[in-house]
Amino acid sequence: MEFNGGLGFERSYYLASANRFTAAPVLEGDIEADLCVIGGGCTGVSAALHAVRAGYTVVLLEGGQIGWGASGRNGGQIIPGLRKNAVELVNRYGAHDARRLFDLGVEARYVLVDLIRRHRIDCDLKSTGHLTAAVKPADLEDIAREVECLARVMDYPHAVPVDRFQIAAEIGTDGYCGGLLDRLGGHYHPLNFTLGLAEAARQAGVRLFEQSPALIIENTASGVLVKTATASVSARFGVLAGDALLGQLEPGIARHIMPVGNYLVATEPLADWASLVPNDRAVSDSRFVVNYYRLSADRRLIFGGGERYTPSPPADIAAFAAAHMTRVFPVLANRRIDYAWGGVVSVTRSRLPHFGRRGNFFFAHGYSGLGVAWSSFAGLLISEAMRGTAERFDLMARFAPQAFPGGRILRDPLYVMAMLWYALRDRL
Ligand SMILES: Cc1cc2nc3c(=O)[nH]c(=O)nc-3n(C[C@H](O)[C@H](O)[C@H](O)COP(=O)(O)OP(=O)(O)OC[C@H]3O[C@@H](n4cnc5c(N)ncnc54)[C@H](O)[C@@H]3O)c2cc1C
Repeated sequence: MEFNGGLGFERSYYLASANRFTAAPVLEGDIEADLCVIGGGCTGVSAALHAVRAGYTVVLLEGGQIGWGASGRNGGQIIPGLRKNAVELVNRYGAHDARRLFDLGVEARYVLVDLIRRHRIDCDLKSTGHLTAAVKPADLEDIAREVECLARVMDYPHAVPVDRFQIAAEIGTDGYCGGLLDRLGGHYHPLNFTLGLAEAARQAGVRLFEQSPALIIENTASGVLVKTATASVSARFGVLAGDALLGQLEPGIARHIMPVGNYLVATEPLADWASLVPNDRAVSDSRFVVNYYRLSADRRLIFGGGERYTPSPPADIAAFAAAHMTRVFPVLANRRIDYAWGGVVSVTRSRLPHFGRRGNFFFAHGYSGLGVAWSSFAGLLISEAMRGTAERFDLMARFAPQAFPGGRILRDPLYVMAMLWYALRDRL
């Protein structure tokens, strides 16, 4: 939680357009349950919901508000697969394992859409596809190889290459030379999804507590003990679902992720939206330091990205992110910016999520910018593993990314150096 201050959640478009949600109480006293979940983002809420549906008694502790972390402030882009593309997965893990990992990344997208439909969550879901926009001609060769690999190795027919004429019709800027359209992608309102999922969990019997940060966790003879400042939960199992905000509650797992600040703006509603993103797709570009954008339900452009070389937020988040937006869309230079905010993305060394367990605590984090689909799916896999069906959880745990060397003190300078290098590479 140490990382989330000063990032302007209170000035986010999502909070301004949030559905009603009755605040949960602060935990008081010493209570018992089968499962204690720490973290009220999509990983934690989904783990809680799936566990209660399986007959567990479940307590969820959120240190701030439900959806207060990345789950309630992200770009809302639904992108099937993994952060590593199919070609990279095959080169690194071989065709067999690459296919198994990729299939889980596709299933994550189906699970997300199923949760929205099953619980009738009002979150502006658009299954309009995700476009990767190519910024340089060399990207087109990579895209051709990727589409071929997706079809041949992954048996994935939903991705098609986009040529320079098609991309010009897709996006109202002359900055791109082609792209890749994934028809299974899309976008949604992330905070309303998280709140809707939490409401479904509450209705199913999960006991939610907000403003109740877990300060001490222990494995005990009978399970786990989780202590807040004034109260505690004893349970058979625990779930650590704090992602980039878990901090040093469990330093052994925090070493596997790098927290990276990322910033967004939402413009005023745009009368000319159809000349910018006429097919209402989610778009991200092929830069290493990605620009990503999409329309909101009320036709604002929600634009995120840019380069930030230190983990601390820029003094003026709106000016910082808007400068990147107008580089892509000069036509937006004089439009009003109604909202600006930031969040913390957790990135792993291999860009694969980090799943595992420490005694009776299960955890999943480090989705490396693809957590919209992966977080809810991870909650499902954790609940499966707790019930003894750990095949898919174990597959992910087998590919656990290595820790970053040197702990927090070294990680920040390493991050700055890495960002500078990749930003330079983008420019070249
Ligand atoms: C700016 C931004 C843009 C992004 N855009 C996209 C995108 O477009 N597409 C995509 O796929 N992914 C995107 N992501 C990534 C995605 O949002 C995350 O991977 C995902 O939301 C992580 O969900 P989570 O539940 O694991 O963590 P979070 O949503 O961060 O939830 C963790 C929760 O745990 C709580 N917590 C932490 N420690 C404690 C404690 N000790 N006690 C109690 N509670 C605690 C926090 O308060 C927080 O609410 C983006 C992320 C950011 C920050």
